[in-house]
Amino acid sequence: MSLSAISVTLPSSKLTLSVAVLGMMLGLTGCSNSSTPEESAEAETAEMGTEQVTTDNATADNAANADAQTITIYSSRNEQLIKPLLDRYTEETGVKIELITDKAGPLMARLQAEGQNTPADMLLTVDAGNLWQASQQGLLQPVASEVLETNVPAKYRDPKGMWTGLSLRARTIFYDPSKVTADQISTYADLADPKWKGKLCLRTSNSVYNQSLVASMIENLGAEQTEQVIRGWVDNLATDVFSDDTSLLEAIAAGQCEVGIANSYYYGRIFDEKPDFPVKISWANQATTGTHVNISGAGVIANSDNADGTLKLIEWLSSDSAQGIYASSDKEYPIKEGVDESELLGSWGQFKKDDINVQKFGELQTQAIQMMDKAGYK
Ligand code: FE
Repeated sequence: MSLSAISVTLPSSKLTLSVAVLGMMLGLTGCSNSSTPEESAEAETAEMGTEQVTTDNATADNAANADAQTITIYSSRNEQLIKPLLDRYTEETGVKIELITDKAGPLMARLQAEGQNTPADMLLTVDAGNLWQASQQGLLQPVASEVLETNVPAKYRDPKGMWTGLSLRARTIFYDPSKVTADQISTYADLADPKWKGKLCLRTSNSVYNQSLVASMIENLGAEQTEQVIRGWVDNLATDVFSDDTSLLEAIAAGQCEVGIANSYYYGRIFDEKPDFPVKISWANQATTGTHVNISGAGVIANSDNADGTLKLIEWLSSDSAQGIYASSDKEYPIKEGVDESELLGSWGQFKKDDINVQKFGELQTQAIQMMDKAGYK
């Protein structure tokens, strides 16, 4: 992580924390994936290592005099996509929402730095690995909600109620149909077979998405076999690892590699602009454990002064009326069963999903990172 130029201005006291303090806090809390450029196509507004993470005036006002009718969200989701839904909540309920957008790592660092002075009520981010980290750092508080228990399957929620999933995304295999046939693709592990030598494209192991995928493989295959698979992947690489899924998919389209692993919604976004995009999707592990799915989700901030109001908003986001919009706004899958997915996603067909509780992705994250490092996966 590049922390060399970061300072955080606290809204209430205007104190500026030095980089040393912030770095120390991150070190102590083991925020191992803060450097992950998660959602590279989202939250592009503030990369890690930018000059300053500052708080705007509206947020400062909120912190100064807490307003129970205002909910402040720290979000790593694309503001353009999430804002219309939040505006609708304000219209329906009169509750005002302040949206502060950044990447997950900087948002968590900011919550650490702000401590009890934080104006934040809710963390909205992607990947169970990130939500688990936030929970481990003590940034979230547990909630008990019958609504969430009804709307969100248990495997997509923290068992202690620290966070809940709100949408689903699949991380699966994509291929060049001019060189590969659908029946040649089976599992993530099969991509380690020498038959794919020089044909595989992968995103960097710094991505929390890959950390979660490898964590799921450790759970499904065991550590020994997973490490062999990673070594095989590295041996099969067609080129250097990619910094984001979109470039990887474009590389398959350009003939640079024949197969690769990416999140389904990046593929969906490209399709919106290029309906003839020459890459196909394949649902991995259909004959075995099912395709790896992860969540976007939310939790109530430990130091929120409006926990009840925040939980109501999270419950609303899990409801029938919000689910379709929330999921389809970014080509994701609804987390609530019985809510229709978008037409585009429907065209990719139904698939068997891995049944693992996504909390495991957090629990096994450190082991996954160490394993990828040891196996030479950059
Ligand atoms: Fe993403």
